[in-house]
Amino acid sequence: MEKIVSLCKRRGFIFQSSEIYGGLNGVWDYGPLGVELKRNLKNYWWRVMVHERDNIVGLDGSILTNPEVLKASGHVEGFSDLLVDCRTCKSRMRADQVVGKKGVQCCPRCGSQDLTEAREFNLMLETRIGSIDSRSAVTYAKPAADLTGATGPGMSSTSSESQLVAVRGPAGELVTSVYLRPETAQTIFVHFKNILEVSRKKLPFGIAQIGKAFRNEINPRNFTFRSREFEQMELEYFCRPEEGMKLLEYWKEERLKFYENIGIPRSKLHVLTVPDEERAFYSKGTYDIEYEFPFGRHELEGVANRTDYDLSQHQKASGKSLEYFDEETKQKFIPHVIEPSAGVDRTVLALICEAYSEDQAPDEKGKMETRTVLRFHPRMAPIKCAVFPLLKNKEPLVAKAKEIVDLLRPHLFVFYDESGAIGRRYRRQDEIGTPFGITVDFETLGEKDAKLRDTVTLRERDSMKQERVAIKDLVNTLKSRIH
Ligand code: ATP
Repeated sequence: MEKIVSLCKRRGFIFQSSEIYGGLNGVWDYGPLGVELKRNLKNYWWRVMVHERDNIVGLDGSILTNPEVLKASGHVEGFSDLLVDCRTCKSRMRADQVVGKKGVQCCPRCGSQDLTEAREFNLMLETRIGSIDSRSAVTYAKPAADLTGATGPGMSSTSSESQLVAVRGPAGELVTSVYLRPETAQTIFVHFKNILEVSRKKLPFGIAQIGKAFRNEINPRNFTFRSREFEQMELEYFCRPEEGMKLLEYWKEERLKFYENIGIPRSKLHVLTVPDEERAFYSKGTYDIEYEFPFGRHELEGVANRTDYDLSQHQKASGKSLEYFDEETKQKFIPHVIEPSAGVDRTVLALICEAYSEDQAPDEKGKMETRTVLRFHPRMAPIKCAVFPLLKNKEPLVAKAKEIVDLLRPHLFVFYDESGAIGRRYRRQDEIGTPFGITVDFETLGEKDAKLRDTVTLRERDSMKQERVAIKDLVNTLKSRIH
């Protein structure tokens, strides 16, 4: 794993956030190559989940969430992990990280048995909206519901119950605590009716979203695997209650295919059927899709049958009907929902771990050396193709190479490189996972054999095999191998 973390930093995939100030625990930034990889993943997810289907539409909801939403969904009350402190070394851990030695509970860091009792720790991150700063006097507390001016059955609970306080700042303005959403799903549920009306979809249909989520994880760890700020790709697929279990199977299979199509082989994926006692109480069935990371087998995605829990809760709390009217049976009911919920950052990490490899390849002089290669599926690779003039001081070679860059650029992300020996240039691209390299040489100029004029060498990263391709065929050849 150290080699992977170091490559990520060295080549600009992932940096520690605020690094020059010492970093921020559990928060990461994606560099020039990381952002491309992440985009390729998100775009492919969007393509197969939304664009290639008739009955799924998209949403891009806000991160700041009215506290009432998260009260209704159960997050304010119950979105917590059990927290334990070690009195000896003062480390703080999740209760499931405490190690048991000969039946005795010990601190995983110092081995001490002097641990506190486990207590609930809510994982949501809070912030304030309204013009208040740390010096402003807080003069008046009111229920958060006052802020919306809304009334309704769900609005009657007091601020102390929800731990969310609306206050007045010095000028009498209302200020309140709000949460950064801990999952993207709730924005989808609260817009169920709006989207049903505008899209005029019939069951089964889905709403998809990709966006940031925040969790105040007790122990962020394993690089980006467990972060405090991360992105999710979630689909809420609404259906008739009786279709739920069949669709749960369908989505589990679809999601497994997705991972295979981005280069994660089935043999490295595991489907865990979450046992009854570990499932959320409202779930009728949950699968965790896990990947064999170098630090162990861990969840990439959860696929769950959430029944009608979320919509029912929001209907109750908001006082607004979230029912579906079935025109065939003339019945009204609250749909059930199947949720495939994937993590962008965890999948990016899995892609990098899966792609990382070392092999032996000859250097310029034919001597074998260790080559580091990221064997990304071409679909996911940050840069699709590199273009090299054989020599940088031969103007016709450089001009032709730049012409090829201009030809390819509207179709795929290409990178031009003229510096250093050609072998070194190939190695640099191998290390960042560029699947194709094009070299413009003297044959391209027709200097050796007129038949080879306007052809180039196309090199494939993994096999290092080279073939001669006509410049006019490059766009189609590359597109067909990347798609
Ligand atoms: P875990 O058990 O690992 O904490 P979870 O079961 O709480 O995960 P879900 O609430 O099902 O996770 O969220 C759906 C997906 O969001 C997860 O499968 C994961 O890919 C991603 N995710 C959740 N928490 C984090 C996190 N702290 N950092 C990065 N990704 C996360």
